[in-house]
Amino acid sequence: MHLYKLNTNIKIKDNFIIENFINPDFIYIPYYANIKLDNIFINTKINNYKSSISGKIIDIKKGIFNEKYQNVFVIANDFKEKENKKEPKTKVNIDNIKKVLKENNEIKLLNRFTNLDKLDNIVISAINDEINVFNNVYLLKENTRDLLDLIDDLRINTKCKNNYLVIKNDESYIIDECLNLFGTYPLITLTLVEDLYLLGKKEFLLDKLNINGNTLYLTIEELDTINRYLKGLDTTTKLITISDNKTCKVIRAKKYTLISDLIKYAYKDLKYNHIIINGLMTGYEITDSNNYILDDEIKSIHLLQKIPKQNNECINCGLCLKVCPKKVDMINSKNLDKCIDCGLCSFMCPNLVNLRAKIKDDKNE
Ligand code: SF4
Ligand code: SF4
Repeated sequence: MHLYKLNTNIKIKDNFIIENFINPDFIYIPYYANIKLDNIFINTKINNYKSSISGKIIDIKKGIFNEKYQNVFVIANDFKEKENKKEPKTKVNIDNIKKVLKENNEIKLLNRFTNLDKLDNIVISAINDEINVFNNVYLLKENTRDLLDLIDDLRINTKCKNNYLVIKNDESYIIDECLNLFGTYPLITLTLVEDLYLLGKKEFLLDKLNINGNTLYLTIEELDTINRYLKGLDTTTKLITISDNKTCKVIRAKKYTLISDLIKYAYKDLKYNHIIINGLMTGYEITDSNNYILDDEIKSIHLLQKIPKQNNECINCGLCLKVCPKKVDMINSKNLDKCIDCGLCSFMCPNLVNLRAKIKDDKNE
């Protein structure tokens, strides 16, 4: 399978700075029940959502949460938030990992921990596929020793012989950090791969590394989530990458803030006309950032002045067919069910035909 390197004109600085947006004036939480408008405090649960600040509910309004307009509580920050009291460290074993994932409703992640008998490989990926998104490597850099400890604990608990931490070979700042520590973890293999699009997806990575058999695959983001639950660490914030055409920032932000507040913090004076969520390859544009809420699914924000005009005429060059990793014939609408919506065909098209939209339309016909 031939994979492609995507061109990007932004290089993140090697000095690794994570900015903080952890004291927003307001947060917004989905409103499902008839809850009394009263003081709520840090970690108070409203249905499945914990307030990420200390404060008071002052209003209910329409907000966009998980891509849908819904009623949300407006909580005004009273800035009395106390540091999360750390619960005692939970012993790392597979039963406890399943327990904390179940308690926190992380069903997708929980499912990865079934069928771990006779595990052949553990693969932990620090790869972010999307252009100018760096959450995984920054999480690893932020907490390298803890995360390496957790990989080692997984190895010991599952008696797995082949254990890999995979990083792109141009992420020098995190590779150096890992190399300094790897003497302590002789049974984890640091594996470097080229910066090729789609290696952030399990099936493409395992194929590239020729890894077969029963494999536990986790991204660093997923590993960090498990680590936080096990250790009772802060889960009210998340890492998010924000970029414009020339620069890129990684920010630790309170969950459930407004996208517009976050952008104002990150790029105060920037003029932009378009906001793309979750990547230039597979993301989507939003128009109502004043009501759009930073939920658990949002990983990146790109601010653009212009987006190229799409839906131009096809000139039958055939490039889209050549680059598709799943051999979809999107021109003649064949094998559309194999499409993984990777966006490569649209990205590579010299005439900017919006093939992703065409595929979606053809599938719905
Ligand atoms: S890459 Fe674009 S121009 Fe070339 S065949 Fe595909 S849709 Fe047509
Ligand atoms: S979006 Fe679908 S059709 Fe286009 S390259 Fe990716 S898998 Fe192929």
